[in-house]
Amino acid sequence: MQYNSLKDLYVDQLRDLYSAESQLMSALPKMAQAASSSMLKTAFQQHLEETRTQKQRLEQIFSELGSRPDGKVCEAMAGLIEEGDEAIQATGDPQVKDAALIAAAQRVEHYEMAGYGVVRTFADELGFKDAKSLLQKSLDEEGNADKKLTSIAQGGLFSQGVNEKAMAH
Ligand code: FE
Ligand code: ZN
Ligand code: FE
Ligand code: FE
Repeated sequence: MQYNSLKDLYVDQLRDLYSAESQLMSALPKMAQAASSSMLKTAFQQHLEETRTQKQRLEQIFSELGSRPDGKVCEAMAGLIEEGDEAIQATGDPQVKDAALIAAAQRVEHYEMAGYGVVRTFADELGFKDAKSLLQKSLDEEGNADKKLTSIAQGGLFSQGVNEKAMAH
């Protein structure tokens, strides 16, 4: 890599995120399929739709930059998905498996939050107003996805959380 300007780094980080989102597009349906809790299944399916939109936002940013989003592999996401695969392949108690899927998914969401936080700040500093607001939207979605996973794990007033069910064994 050669970084001559903050913009070079910004583009490189956006490509990393584009690869991360692309990899996640194929992992999330498998996570949904592996989940036993219907709330968890639905959360994964909904986040797949959001992930599709996030990819499109990145494509839009690249087209405004007159550049292509591909050409980089996010190795960190590949590793996180590999860990997610362990949860997908796991046998044993389905509720504990759900807790494992949530643990893997929350690692993914936090990784994405870090990535979007960085590029949102770069976009702001570089004066890319539209890109900044697109990236902020994706950052907010990742944050909400993480919070939703927490609430599925912990349960609420009317619903038992995945963790509590997993403890019953
Ligand atoms: Fe995402
Ligand atoms: Zn990465
Ligand atoms: Fe660590
Ligand atoms: Fe996400």
